[in-house]
Amino acid sequence: MQEFTYTANPARVLFGSGTRQSLTDEMTKLGTNRAMVITSAHKRDYINQIMLDLGEYCVAHFDGAEMHTPVHVTHMALEYISDKKIDCLIAIGGGSTTGLTKAIALRTGLPQIILPTTYAGSELTPIIGETVNGIKTTQSSQKVLPETVIYDVDLTLSLPVTDSITSGINALAHAVEALYAENKNPVTSTLAEKAILSFYHALPRIFSHPLDIQARTTALYATFLSGMCLGSVGMSLHHKLCHTLGGSFGLPHAATHCVILPYVIQFNAPASDILNQLGRTLNSSSLAFAIFELIRTCNGPTRLRDIGMKKADLNKAAELAISNAYYNPRSFTKNDIHSLLNDAFSGIIPDASL
Ligand code: NAD
Repeated sequence: MQEFTYTANPARVLFGSGTRQSLTDEMTKLGTNRAMVITSAHKRDYINQIMLDLGEYCVAHFDGAEMHTPVHVTHMALEYISDKKIDCLIAIGGGSTTGLTKAIALRTGLPQIILPTTYAGSELTPIIGETVNGIKTTQSSQKVLPETVIYDVDLTLSLPVTDSITSGINALAHAVEALYAENKNPVTSTLAEKAILSFYHALPRIFSHPLDIQARTTALYATFLSGMCLGSVGMSLHHKLCHTLGGSFGLPHAATHCVILPYVIQFNAPASDILNQLGRTLNSSSLAFAIFELIRTCNGPTRLRDIGMKKADLNKAAELAISNAYYNPRSFTKNDIHSLLNDAFSGIIPDASL
């Protein structure tokens, strides 16, 4: 018998097409009727429509969410709500918008309803990263876990193809790292495998037909599954590297995940049979090669040098990535990380035979 511990995070999840129309019902279920809607500055038709549908349930709109949750933006939003008797936060957007909503919840205890419009997966995790003076720190707190998540596939249709691919690989990376997490368990491994296979099949279809509702639905469902993995087991080398590259060198979040993932899979494969099994399931002898080909087929970024990394910074990045101890299925030295980053810098094709 296999013994295991699985921690589920409490969240009510609605999934489908048109589910955004349940928003006022969901607010009522939470005993709330005065929401602040939080978005980024980009104008989108669906945001206006949702606010119209909310009617008097929407008493404020803060549209200043930014990547990496700068704390000065959180303080602006807090000032905004102080005199409006807000009793609920509604995020409509990607991980940046969810990040700001979590930061407000952390300081106010207000309940959150999240409508994700990318595949980042932050809506299902107790994790929050915040940036002060360019330094990003991450903490885990049950206070930031959203009460309700409304996945509405219609909101993802406008996500540009490039963002859809990088965001999808970002989510796929949560699932990959869940497979070899220190606290992995059969529940999260089942979710992770399903998420990986779903993204693998959905992303090329989204690439060629961005409005394919079935492919969008599969990708959003995979987002839900990989978000549950991210919210319940620990991440390893891949997330640490991406956090370092984004936080210290300003690289774009999802694109960084996209470039780095095949190289971390290649590095960890000798220590994780499940990665090799999955590679075979995808008719490739190497999962690293299969994911690299997936990204390349979908015109996703495959080289660090194309997304803003300077070769001269690779050494510093390797140093930072090994500066704190954390679990990874295969131990590594600074040289290993430097060599991995070097390959990712130039987009060396991962070895298909590993
Ligand atoms: P994002 O939220 O910044 O969105 C990327 C871009 O896509 C933005 O320009 C946004 O306006 C646009 N966009 C979003 N949805 C759209 C849509 N449906 N149509 C058209 N354009 C759309 O990026 P992201 O990758 O979703 O999130 C990245 C942030 O989330 C980072 O700060 C990262 O650290 C954080 N994150 C946190 C967790 C966590 O568990 N705490 C998990 C994943 C990501």
